[in-house]
Amino acid sequence: HYRCRSAFKLLEIDDKYRILRPGLCVVDCGAAPGAWSQVAVQRVNAAGTNPECPVGFVMGVDLLHFSPLEGAVFLSNADVTDSSTHMKIKDRLPAGKADVILSDMAPNACGIRDLDHQRLVSMCLSLLDLAQSILSPGGTLLCKLWDGGKSSVLRNRLVQVFQDVKTVKPQASRKESAETYFLAKSYQKEH
Ligand code: SAM
Repeated sequence: HYRCRSAFKLLEIDDKYRILRPGLCVVDCGAAPGAWSQVAVQRVNAAGTNPECPVGFVMGVDLLHFSPLEGAVFLSNADVTDSSTHMKIKDRLPAGKADVILSDMAPNACGIRDLDHQRLVSMCLSLLDLAQSILSPGGTLLCKLWDGGKSSVLRNRLVQVFQDVKTVKPQASRKESAETYFLAKSYQKEH
């Protein structure tokens, strides 16, 4: 019942690293068709399915359109690398803050591995600007990367503002050999 098999990657990462829990506020970047958002809605209790637990919030953002999903707010036609999108996201968040930023964003691959890698790294770097405007202290960022020469540039930037940065590779990603995720925890705002 997930919209896309990519759901299993997030389930696997979250089962191991426990980044989502009831009551948290999540922004899911590059979220269409919405499978990660489905997982996030369940795990943060955004639809209020479990009345015993705090109710979270999930916002999905993508260039593309989404079908509606109970418990999620979708922002379509929106480029996550654009600072005007960051303002729209902030405006729609409860208290203007998020606990978790997820990104499974990927550009349309041109097939030249190095160029695709560099484009994805620069997209991930823009998530640091988004974090600066919306991520609560102590918050988490999980972002997809295609490995390559510029991965260390991104990692070094993450290490400057997060206390704990790991590379994670879910089993469900094994076939896409270059695909990995950076999991950055304990955000500390830049001064
Ligand atoms: N995690 C999603 C799911 O589980 O349904 C699948 C995401 S898919 C691998 C990558 C998405 O990134 C595509 O829907 C694409 O439109 C989106 N994307 C690429 N560049 C983007 C950008 N600059 N801003 C927002 N979304 C973008």
